[in-house]
Amino acid sequence: MTTDFDATKAMFDLPEGVIYLDGNSLGPLPRGVADRVGRAITAEWGQMLITGWNKAGWMDMPARVGDRIARLIGAEPGHVVMGDTLSIKVYQALASALEMNPGRKVILSDTGNFPSDLYMADGLVRTLGQGYALRTVAPEDVLDAIDDTVAVTLITEVDYRTGRRHDMKAITARAHAMGALTVWDLAHSAGALDCDLSGAQADFAVGCTYKYLNSGPGGPAFIYVAPRHADRARPALSGWLGHAAPFAFDLDYRPGAGIERMRVGTPPILQLAALDAALDVWDHVAMADLRARSLALSDAFIAAVERACPDLTLTTPRDPAMRGSQASFRHPQGYAIMQSLIARGVIGDFRAPDILRFGFTPLFIGFDEVERAATILAEVMANRLWDRPEYHARAKVT
Ligand SMILES: *Cc1c(COP(=O)(O)O)cnc(C)c1O
Repeated sequence: MTTDFDATKAMFDLPEGVIYLDGNSLGPLPRGVADRVGRAITAEWGQMLITGWNKAGWMDMPARVGDRIARLIGAEPGHVVMGDTLSIKVYQALASALEMNPGRKVILSDTGNFPSDLYMADGLVRTLGQGYALRTVAPEDVLDAIDDTVAVTLITEVDYRTGRRHDMKAITARAHAMGALTVWDLAHSAGALDCDLSGAQADFAVGCTYKYLNSGPGGPAFIYVAPRHADRARPALSGWLGHAAPFAFDLDYRPGAGIERMRVGTPPILQLAALDAALDVWDHVAMADLRARSLALSDAFIAAVERACPDLTLTTPRDPAMRGSQASFRHPQGYAIMQSLIARGVIGDFRAPDILRFGFTPLFIGFDEVERAATILAEVMANRLWDRPEYHARAKVT
């Protein structure tokens, strides 16, 4: 399959006059979503009422939709399930992994990880007590820091600020050699690059769907458990829908078969319907094509910005193998610069303390947009267009 990126772009409903370089934070609206969600509301919920759980297949949606994502992240079919938010899935994967490695107490992560992952790990460690600890090292030091005290590594493959990509295969191999398990966070990988969980022998993985997978604000997260662990991992968040027989209403918890046990409570059917429709675009995409184009788009942007904006410092690795699908630049006035860009129709975002972040999403961004965005950024920088009071006022979401 070769991917027709003009065709994928036509599958999105993008506002006129906007260059959207923030699909890495909240993906835009795919055209099929409103109809599909409308049908889930009126034809399914409205007409079927509670019978929709069986008749409309609602109860099977978390695993069915999970399978569509499995293909995109190199997971074995039948080993991904949807539900909850990513923060919850981080906790769930970590708790199971720790329990599978008794005798070891250390969660190893890095200082480039997304704070929520670290907060969830910290909360879990406090709940467990008994000497459990979270250890964080610099991203470059992760490989060497995996020693025989580490129970589990908690690593986000692509750094949300710098776009730096960890070597999943090497880290997983080292973890296994040292007797540790791995939890991979694919928040900035799923739908962004050619991820291969099975090939890397990853143990657990989690990710969200509202970024590169375009499920809409608050879309459900996913969790993967490797087939060799799927019937062994015990869920700490042991909700009734992860039970072997939810409608037996047993008083005792018995985990369901394989990945089903990672379900917790009632699935968000309307958001799953949005995600299901959003995933249709991926039926036309070869991940290798996506990755090649993402790197080419990022390279074009980096080259144009570096030519025209000497005051911006690239913080994303130049080596394609070492980056995800974004380009980030530092500047002390990063916040105001981004606000003035947004006012001119180029939407990226700002990450404290000083990072301007631009996501490259080949499904709907082409080389024209990249060139235009770089030209507008150059005008903003050359004429100090950012230096106006309204661009300095901080909003709640940056
Ligand atoms: C976006 C992101 C999150 C957000 O978690 P939610 O629970 O979905 O709000 C967590 N971790 C990483 C690495 C992220 O990039």
